[in-house]
Amino acid sequence: MRVSTLSIGDELTTGATVDRHAAWLATRCAALGLRFEEHRTVDDDRHRITRALRELAARSDLLVATGGLGPTLDDVTREALADALGEELVIDEAALTRLEARYAARGRVPGERNRRQVLRPVGGRCLPNDNGTAPGLEAVLDDCRVVVLPGPPHEMHPMFETHVADTLDSKGDAEVPVTINAYGLAESSAGDLLGELAARDASPLVGIRVSWSILAATIRGSGIEPVARQVEERWRPFAYGRDEQTLQEVVGGMLGARGATIATAESCTGGLIGGRITEVAGSSGWYGGGVVTYSNECKERLLGVPSELLERRGAVSEEVAVVMAMEAARRFGADYALSTTGIAGPGGGSEEKPVGTVWIGVCDTTAGHPRAWARRFRFPGDRTWVRDRTVKSALQMLRLHMLDASVPLIWEETS
Ligand code: ATP
Repeated sequence: MRVSTLSIGDELTTGATVDRHAAWLATRCAALGLRFEEHRTVDDDRHRITRALRELAARSDLLVATGGLGPTLDDVTREALADALGEELVIDEAALTRLEARYAARGRVPGERNRRQVLRPVGGRCLPNDNGTAPGLEAVLDDCRVVVLPGPPHEMHPMFETHVADTLDSKGDAEVPVTINAYGLAESSAGDLLGELAARDASPLVGIRVSWSILAATIRGSGIEPVARQVEERWRPFAYGRDEQTLQEVVGGMLGARGATIATAESCTGGLIGGRITEVAGSSGWYGGGVVTYSNECKERLLGVPSELLERRGAVSEEVAVVMAMEAARRFGADYALSTTGIAGPGGGSEEKPVGTVWIGVCDTTAGHPRAWARRFRFPGDRTWVRDRTVKSALQMLRLHMLDASVPLIWEETS
């Protein structure tokens, strides 16, 4: 089934509002196995909307349009759909009854403007909207099923599920795209590893993107699964999950599966690792807690890092990261611990330890005795990036250690 989408609204074409429906609908259609044909955005001009509806309907089996169903004069999608169909608008009695009941519940009566919202093309039908006053519309134009939904996302999303997704006889015939996520590889190396798999004329098509240092290869087309497995194989051991899976979910799942626990001792990340770990529902099963020891005094007092060590090696050092990880595991009685100590910037750097220098420590007590080590990174980017990359590197270090597959990660200083 070929699907097109149309977003309608001056606020979209002027750039005042980012067209988020385009992305949302494309993702949902892909997940339903529908073939995405085209997306278009038009302003609230009746003739341009009519033309867009006709053109998109001519090349689609399903057209989902959003916006312009409100009560104000600039909401003209209803009229444009009637024009495209060559039909008159009539009052939909059932929709009017629902509208009146909605108003009556608040002791009010709908005005003339609101009554416009229950107009529909003669041959079309109104789609009930549980979250707002404007019903959606459905009609058949040139053998294409046209569904028009109101613009507000909290109305549009549930209506798409009820009036579109739930009504499809079967899933579409297109395979659902698969995304492989990886962390710790440079984008260029990731591309090299994929080689011919990522050729622009390959089938299925493999597209790589990077967002917040996470590499994602999305495979679209037919014959997806074998290629997805090849991507995972070529990105091994950096590939950690698929689609919406996060590093913290994967690491949490691994800890949960082995009945192991983790503790954290964070300096430059200020609790971000603990925050990420506890984003995952059920994380109390593997995370008891952690400490944020930002100052040297707290590192001494809460983790027992020797002041002599802090003076001799500095807080941002291998030895301090190791003691922090070791003590976090011991004091929280955890099987594993992660520690961070570094210079997130913009100040505080030196020639020997420039901004972006971070030591990440890991402690593993599962062999019966505690074993801790630390690795040094030099992360590029500002404070936000350095801290975010520290969190991801720490989680990936632990994941790879548990898999017995430790390798240097991007931005790690190995000398
Ligand atoms: P109503 O006017 O009754 O709210 P409507 O169907 O006329 O409903 P619009 O006026 O087009 O909808 O949009 C209402 C609001 O919904 C917009 O101001 C905007 O915040 C949001 N919205 C609409 N379309 C989009 C879109 N494509 N992407 C993101 N937000 C959107």
